[in-house]
Amino acid sequence: MFIPPHLEYAFSKIADVPDFPKPGILFKDITPLLQDKKAFSDAVDDLASHLNGANKVAGIESRGFIFAAAIAAKHNLGLVLLRKPGKLPRPTHVVQYQLEYGFDSLEMHQDALDKNDSVLLVDDVLATGGTLLAGTELITKTGAKLANCAVFIEISALNGRNRLGSIPVHSSIIV
Ligand code: AMP
Repeated sequence: MFIPPHLEYAFSKIADVPDFPKPGILFKDITPLLQDKKAFSDAVDDLASHLNGANKVAGIESRGFIFAAAIAAKHNLGLVLLRKPGKLPRPTHVVQYQLEYGFDSLEMHQDALDKNDSVLLVDDVLATGGTLLAGTELITKTGAKLANCAVFIEISALNGRNRLGSIPVHSSIIV
């Protein structure tokens, strides 16, 4: 467990919900954090301090959008949306990834990024790492550089960081 002192208040606003959305999952509910102006701004400030030179911020649907949009606005940068299948209206890149049972995929508009871009990829939670890994693949498909990944909560027991290998990831708090 790693909670830096400046994020203790924000951490206190995360609600643990057992057996949601299915039995055995301990869901990290960030809605109390979002509802609290200090907790939300402390979380955004921490994530936004790990741009590592990025000129665009990419968010993963759906809770990643919230942090990514706030970081992009704070730094006056463009925002890129990595969405669930079938949501984006124009030509997309697609990456499929494995879930516990079955597959899911993420899509991004083909014109969202190019080789001149350097990207901060943002999500709320790093669990097994499959989602973040798919996001990094979408970004690199375009020739863009991955500057960094940033998540607010890393669930260390699920070993997502190992799965991500050498991909850089900043986690605000580790539980
Ligand atoms: P994973 O691909 O296993 O790393 O899962 C990460 C994605 O699933 C993120 O987009 C999270 O929003 C969501 N997620 C996975 N596990 C949890 C959890 N325990 N609490 C909240 N969100 C989770």
